[in-house]
Amino acid sequence: MTDTLRCFIGLGSNLDDPRQQVLRALDELAALDDCRLGLRSSLYRSDPVGPQDQPDFINAVAELHTSLDAETLLDRLQMIEQQHRRVRERHWGPRTLDLDLLLYGNASIATERLKVPHPYMSERSFVLWPLAEIAPELRLPDGTTLEGLLALCPMGTLERLPL
Ligand code: AMP
Repeated sequence: MTDTLRCFIGLGSNLDDPRQQVLRALDELAALDDCRLGLRSSLYRSDPVGPQDQPDFINAVAELHTSLDAETLLDRLQMIEQQHRRVRERHWGPRTLDLDLLLYGNASIATERLKVPHPYMSERSFVLWPLAEIAPELRLPDGTTLEGLLALCPMGTLERLPL
């Protein structure tokens, strides 16, 4: 693979053995053509965002080096979500697997299908803290430092799980 970009993928699940869903998804990311999986964070437990009458989430963040363009990478992520027979009955409701393209190199993208950096990443502890584990020096395309974002987003009830 030549000319790869460093990307970050957010993973989340709160249905059907969430821990296994996330671990399996990491293996599936590692097996994608034209991609190489880099560092992966620990698993974290987080409270659900939105409706509270649903199970806790398991989250992680992974670094992926890829030569795919951003939309093609999103296609692959959505294919993996489908393989997990993602259930999505309501907005911010339970899901077997959610994969978000958090960062695609240093690009800012705003198309109908794809917004990068992911619109909510700056305010979500379950994204920022796992990201800090694997890329503490990171900056967003607009120059914002991850360190600065973390200062505004305490871990709260987010829990890093033992291996
Ligand atoms: P959600 O299930 O809430 O993650 O939303 C999925 C939808 O968000 C899909 O239709 C994608 O086209 C769109 N989307 C926009 N930006 C992103 C991104 N950075 N990563 C993943 N999905 C995205």
